[in-house]
Amino acid sequence: MVGMHTPDAEMARLASKALLYSIDRIRIDPPPLGAPRPFEELLEAVGQTITKDGITGAEALRLFTEVLAPSSISVDHPKFLSFVPGAPTEASIIFDMVVSAASIYAGSWLEGAGAVFAENQALRWIADLADFPASAGGVFVSGGTAGNMSALIAGRHWWRSRNEGRHDHTRGLIMASKGAHSSVAQAARAMDADVLLVPADERGRLVGSTLRATVDAMSQADRDRLFAIVATCGTTNLGVIDELSVVADVAHELNVWFHVDGAYGAAGLCAPSVRHKYIGIERADSFIVDPHKWLFGPYDSCALIYRNVHDGPRAHTQHAEYLDVLHSEVDESQPWLEMNPADMAHHLSRRARGLPLWFSLATHGTDAYADAVERTLKVTKQGAEEIRSRPYLELLLEPDLSILVFRRLGWTPEDYQRWSDQQLYSGESFIVPSSWNGETVLRFCIVNPRTRRQHLIEILDSLAPEES
Ligand SMILES: *Cc1c(COP(=O)(O)O)cnc(C)c1O
Repeated sequence: MVGMHTPDAEMARLASKALLYSIDRIRIDPPPLGAPRPFEELLEAVGQTITKDGITGAEALRLFTEVLAPSSISVDHPKFLSFVPGAPTEASIIFDMVVSAASIYAGSWLEGAGAVFAENQALRWIADLADFPASAGGVFVSGGTAGNMSALIAGRHWWRSRNEGRHDHTRGLIMASKGAHSSVAQAARAMDADVLLVPADERGRLVGSTLRATVDAMSQADRDRLFAIVATCGTTNLGVIDELSVVADVAHELNVWFHVDGAYGAAGLCAPSVRHKYIGIERADSFIVDPHKWLFGPYDSCALIYRNVHDGPRAHTQHAEYLDVLHSEVDESQPWLEMNPADMAHHLSRRARGLPLWFSLATHGTDAYADAVERTLKVTKQGAEEIRSRPYLELLLEPDLSILVFRRLGWTPEDYQRWSDQQLYSGESFIVPSSWNGETVLRFCIVNPRTRRQHLIEILDSLAPEES
């Protein structure tokens, strides 16, 4: 039995078992796809694991590796193309383990200076990809949902401060397109603000003409309570990029906060072949990108970057007797690199969750990231060709980035679902149906450099009509 807080030989044996599993899991290619099992089946297989005396670490690890992990889908499987998959590098996973072992509180410079220093170098790389100025800075939060909300809270704080009390009790308004991620509406609900949805164009993008028309049609009261416009670079369902430059113009004219949600798509900033599509992002007041999506990091991680790093702490710093020691010497003339990550978002205690990305970037260099993103873009183009070459399929949109949306001619929603279930439960692939203009369709999201043309061919062939 391993003693608690007793690093003895038993503990070392358990550690090597856990490490051996981890090393195998990192190496296995492809990983087992996995699939969910019903609650009753899991209960039957696992039983009650939380008991008065414990079931031993060895037994809990066995249950995890033999039952629980296979009952969870591996996001890094090359044929996991649903939602937004992940494809963490080996280096990033290894370092995720190191971060846990190092027991660092990464909320303050006082406690986590070394970790925060390294995280900030990774953040600076991301800020540079967007051509953000030297004044920029931010923090790694848990995900795009947390990042969008923290950015919008900072934007509202900026707007209220600028209005010197006039809007301290005004219910704020955010403009976003119909293609914006659900987390924007979720942030608005949490903030007790409203969202005005701007219709998207036929490709699903927020464009200048409809944005301006919506602004022109706004009442003066709504105009007065508008504090932010959100654009998306890489919408989640279609992977398209809004007209960032025009949105920047409008936000500037209206003197409101301009936030860019790049949770999925901003990773494409590092790919020279698509970099031009992002022009305008350099004028944002804040943007986000999730390393756990297309920047090859483990969960959970979102880089939130403010154009002016001080906009974060102005909105988010918590004040309490036991925390004041962290803030007594902080003023805005201080170099931002020594600021507290806790002050940059809606959180306090935090894991140094930027370190896996930092370690992987330091290991491989940034060119390797550009190459890996380019590879996924190339496979997406090949997938588009494969879809076009099959008479039973119809590509619905030329891909902007790495998402393919297409229909299987003649299929009902039930046909799509039956095919999807069959693929998952036979361990073949994980591709759930999506929808486009109200119609059930198929969607591939390709962020895994291990996903190859051949994988897509196998999936597309499985959609073919039965030979008669
Ligand atoms: C995935 C996604 C989000 C939400 O990110 P989480 O990390 O899942 O919270 C927000 N915006 C866009 C565009 C996304 O693709």
